[in-house]
Amino acid sequence: MKVARIRPPRSAAAGMPHVSGPLVRWFARVGRDLPWRRSRDPYRVWLSEIMLQQTQVERVKDYFTRFVAAFPDVHALAAAREDRVLKLWEGLGYYRRARQLHAAAKRIVADHDGAFPRTAAELRALPGIGRYTAGAIASIAFDAPEPIVEANSRRVLARLAGYARPLDGPRGDEPIWEIAARVVPRRSPGRFNQALMDLGALVCTPTRPLCTACPLAAHCVARRTGRAGSIPVKSARRALERLRETAIVMRHGDRVLVERRKPGEWWQGLWDFPREGAAVQGRKLGIVRYTVTHHAVECVARQRTTSRRSRSSAERRWVAIPDLAKLAMTAPGRRIAALLKPG
Ligand code: SF4
Repeated sequence: MKVARIRPPRSAAAGMPHVSGPLVRWFARVGRDLPWRRSRDPYRVWLSEIMLQQTQVERVKDYFTRFVAAFPDVHALAAAREDRVLKLWEGLGYYRRARQLHAAAKRIVADHDGAFPRTAAELRALPGIGRYTAGAIASIAFDAPEPIVEANSRRVLARLAGYARPLDGPRGDEPIWEIAARVVPRRSPGRFNQALMDLGALVCTPTRPLCTACPLAAHCVARRTGRAGSIPVKSARRALERLRETAIVMRHGDRVLVERRKPGEWWQGLWDFPREGAAVQGRKLGIVRYTVTHHAVECVARQRTTSRRSRSSAERRWVAIPDLAKLAMTAPGRRIAALLKPG
């Protein structure tokens, strides 16, 4: 009984195969012209999908263009040094994505002779490729009728089917995946999936969906029942935990000490100034506030000078202040670096 109640209304989803035609025609007219859509090269589809996780489309455009110019194919990316990959990623955030991208490129070259796996199941065996990304690559690059659910398509599908239960229960987005699997067409599944995402971004927007301009208005349960603005049902927000820390800018003449973030730390592999949990002595340079995975951090940057430089290693370096710009740094580290004046 319980299971049956949290399933999407089957009649609504079953009526939805009609949505493919109008949706794909709408997409042909008004779909977004994005740099990664100009080819169906799986490398480019994959790269764009990884960059778009957690990052806005407008921000991704320049990063994508620069990244493809530096690493035009999976062989070039696999052969690159991790530092260079992270440097090109700097500012996009969620650096784990970049490291997994790099690891997956190496696997594709080593295990698949540089040819992308074509099925969603094989793609999911690669680092950093989850259910959504596998579906996106398989459908867009290889025409496999795989469903996708991300923020935009999730909203569109929930509204189309009139799915009015919260999606933060034990089954998560599973009911929406079931709807997505029922509606994805055999013909042009990639275009259909991209059209769903564009509809969510341009028309079926979170707060004020433009139902009068929607090509699917005639099929939409939420619209018919007056619930377009309230679906998907919002989940309770997790409160941010507040943290305080001190960043130590240890200075020797024009050089400062930076260290690399360790495995298991935020921004693993990127450079930053050493941190102390407790307050420490030193001249206050400023305060940098940032949020990272449910934490709101207030970081006081303090400068201390030393007459002796400890030895540099692979994990700790004394770097001339102007050369900090060449390092792949964490976002707060970069902001602290901006507070420094060359001596
Ligand atoms: Fe979204 Fe409105 Fe279109 Fe339904 S009719 S899919 S709520 S824009």
